[in-house]
Amino acid sequence: NKTVYPFGGKADHSDPRQKDKTVTGGKGRNLAEMASIGLPVPPGFTITTEECLRYLEQGGDFTPELRDAVREALAHIETTVGKTLGDASDPLLVSVRSGAAISMPGMMDTVLNLGLNDETVQGLAATSGDARFAWDSYRRFIQMYSDVVLGLDHGLFEEALEIAKEDKGFFEDTEMSSEDWQALVDEFKTIVSREQDAPFPQDPHEQLWGAIRAVFDSWETERARTYRRLNDIPHDMGTAVNVQAMVFGNMGDTSATGVAFTRDPSTGERAYYGEYLINAQGEDVVAGIRTPRYLTKAAREAAGAEPASMEEAMPEAYGELARVFDLLEKHYRDMQDIEFTVERGQLWMLQTRTGKRTAKAALKIAVEMEGEGLIERNEAVARIDPMALDQLLHPTLDPAAKRDVVAKGLPASPGAASGKIALDADTAERWAHGGDDVILVRVETSPEDIHGMHAARGILTARGGMTSHAAVVARGMGRPCVSGAAGVRIDNAARTLEIGGRGFAEGDVVTLDGGTGEVMAGEVARIEPELVGDFATVMEWADASRRMRVRANAETPEDCRTARGFGAEGIGLCRTEHMFFDASRIAAVREMILAEDEAGRRAALEKLLPEQRSDFEAIFEVMAGLPVTIRLLDPPLHEFLPQKEADYDEVARATGHSVDRLKRRASELHEFNPMLGHRGCRLGITFPEIYEMQARAIFEAACAVKQGSGDAPLPEVMIPLAATRREVAILKALVDRVAKDVFEEQGCKLDYLVGTMIELPRAALAAGDIAEDAAFFSFGTNDLTQTALGVSRDDAAKFLGEYVDRGIYARDPFVSIDVDGVGELVRIGVERGRATRGDIKLGICGEHGGDPASIGFCEEVGLDYVSASPYRVPIARLAAAQAAI
Ligand code: ADP
Ligand code: MG
Ligand code: MG
Repeated sequence: NKTVYPFGGKADHSDPRQKDKTVTGGKGRNLAEMASIGLPVPPGFTITTEECLRYLEQGGDFTPELRDAVREALAHIETTVGKTLGDASDPLLVSVRSGAAISMPGMMDTVLNLGLNDETVQGLAATSGDARFAWDSYRRFIQMYSDVVLGLDHGLFEEALEIAKEDKGFFEDTEMSSEDWQALVDEFKTIVSREQDAPFPQDPHEQLWGAIRAVFDSWETERARTYRRLNDIPHDMGTAVNVQAMVFGNMGDTSATGVAFTRDPSTGERAYYGEYLINAQGEDVVAGIRTPRYLTKAAREAAGAEPASMEEAMPEAYGELARVFDLLEKHYRDMQDIEFTVERGQLWMLQTRTGKRTAKAALKIAVEMEGEGLIERNEAVARIDPMALDQLLHPTLDPAAKRDVVAKGLPASPGAASGKIALDADTAERWAHGGDDVILVRVETSPEDIHGMHAARGILTARGGMTSHAAVVARGMGRPCVSGAAGVRIDNAARTLEIGGRGFAEGDVVTLDGGTGEVMAGEVARIEPELVGDFATVMEWADASRRMRVRANAETPEDCRTARGFGAEGIGLCRTEHMFFDASRIAAVREMILAEDEAGRRAALEKLLPEQRSDFEAIFEVMAGLPVTIRLLDPPLHEFLPQKEADYDEVARATGHSVDRLKRRASELHEFNPMLGHRGCRLGITFPEIYEMQARAIFEAACAVKQGSGDAPLPEVMIPLAATRREVAILKALVDRVAKDVFEEQGCKLDYLVGTMIELPRAALAAGDIAEDAAFFSFGTNDLTQTALGVSRDDAAKFLGEYVDRGIYARDPFVSIDVDGVGELVRIGVERGRATRGDIKLGICGEHGGDPASIGFCEEVGLDYVSASPYRVPIARLAAAQAAI
């Protein structure tokens, strides 16, 4: 297998490995692909990700084979361009760029203009006829190389540049003359010699290998690791290295560099979208040093901006670019994110990749591309990241609410968020962990801020455009972001800031609207989202292709209504205990718990019955005949014990018992390990009157609703925490007896089911036996994960992070099902249950029911439905469709 793949020029692009991004990385693969379809790509070569891994394993050694292959590939560039690396009279310059299989924006640094030294800079000046350009390129190179490869503080160089400009009274880099740059190069070289006790490397081949080494090493940096952890990217993929002939966007006013999307990544609108800068190179556009200009005339006019758009300033190059956009979309059949450079009027493509987009844009683009005939319906469904829908499933600002707008920036990432201002990433993270909503406010963000951006509800920056780091990362994370809000001035020392002339302190609450760019003081009311337009279309398509049903976990009529609005087809888990915490009821619950005998308990349960009945009536009304799985009382009783002295007084008054006596009873209820204690069906076995009351409430409510509205409810009574068939049999008999009584009393008959949760390993193993008495199983994967792994979910935070980091579990097993262990128990439960009872209803009601990867697993083992929290229902519908496609 080849270790190095040339692209561009006369290179042969036919090896299938070159098209495999796990081998050549996303950037390398697409550069080769663009070259192979005839687009203008500067020639270059890609060193494979496999070589990166080999290098890291071998502790930083290059193999002789790699050295040979690179020499040969470099010759390919040299012949194509007709220049030689290190040639003093006409030097070849190259860029060295990283590129992993999955794009990791800003994680790996690029070195531009490599090959310059004190001699070749003269050659470059002579051949280009532009000494200013040559010295500008050389100073850029020293600055980048020193930062990325030599590991020197880039601040030192920026400071020197700032001082040089200040001395001259210059505002923009473009004002610097050839002599100014030359003087700065001398200064830079002095800085390097001083900081590393060795001069700046002059040998271009040494520079090249140094840069390749730096790219390989960057795979292991802390910030790259953090990014991978946050995005579930494996650590063992490695990055490819791309070495590519330089083209120059800084050769005067007919040269430029830019970034663009083939459609609007915020809205999905079919309009070219991007920014460019004349006479600039590389990262200038995204670095926020100069304010970039609009790509199209329409965008410039819409923004009311002055400086000419690329369409107006360079119509020919722009026309060529538009042609390339269309070719790329037809070729990749998806929206592309592009980097380009214009050198003296000639367009060059430097990168293309599938563009990141907001959820809203993703839906619009999928629906429109289906309409344009570019993709099939199933592909449109498959393309949407289910978790990204989360962005659309949360409240937006209420248009009727009062807004105290203090500043306006760019609408960089949509959504609305309120929170306390945090001025640095660490503070944002700390406050968010403490349970606060935080808005991270920075001058601009960099990769060091990622953890803070992740922790924050929203991000506000003073500088940077729509393609700045903050904007790109925020869109990827689904965080609302307002960037480039010129009215934001931060005083880091005083921990205060000014927004639009108004004073704020760190910790003050602000609200961002990432859809309009508005920044508001204080909190602004929000409204519930609706499922309409492209979102509704994609959901319809998804529903047509899924097999599994989707239910919701809900116990209040409001949640049930939300769930139905999102398309839930039933309730998969109604936790009755949640109804007991209500202020008006907790007293009666406590009375029941603290009762010392059955008579005392029955007296208290009498008070709860009508309350519980009205709960169920309301839920059955909303669910209008759809199945509702109701779990009988599950948690350890001590969770309801009085907390405060006043609570005891209240129970004492109601029961006539002394507080002392109640406290003694409470201490009797103490358990060492309540999660494995007196809970679930064990309560029903030992205190049958509790479950009797609940069953009565369910059936009385169901009869009342049937006799009232006419929609016959379909109750599914669920017994929690059973381990054996016998437990289920005893409690099923109890439920059936109560049902019979109620039906006789009410003169009403209803279909209902009695089933059980499978949430203990023994229950999964004994599923064949249990199914004799259970009409349905609901896999309670939260408890099943706790009991199978022997890990308490409430105590797991202390070690689980490290477990995931070290690959002991691939993901947090409470978030995404542990397929090999817990999943195996589910599989066994499914097989054995079905063997006994062919038509047994099977579902899942743990957190995993809303996790796309786990939903894929549920499809594979053939569950009938998944159940998720109401806001996750659309995510589950889409994930279920993707699993079935
Ligand atoms: P990133 O992955 O951070 O986007 P890139 O490798 O794409 O890094 O490089 C960043 C920028 O450097 C590019 O957008 C482009 O403007 C510039 N660049 C890279 N290679 C070349 C080249 N061969 N000629 C001119 N500019 C280049
Ligand atoms: Mg790039
Ligand atoms: Mg449970």
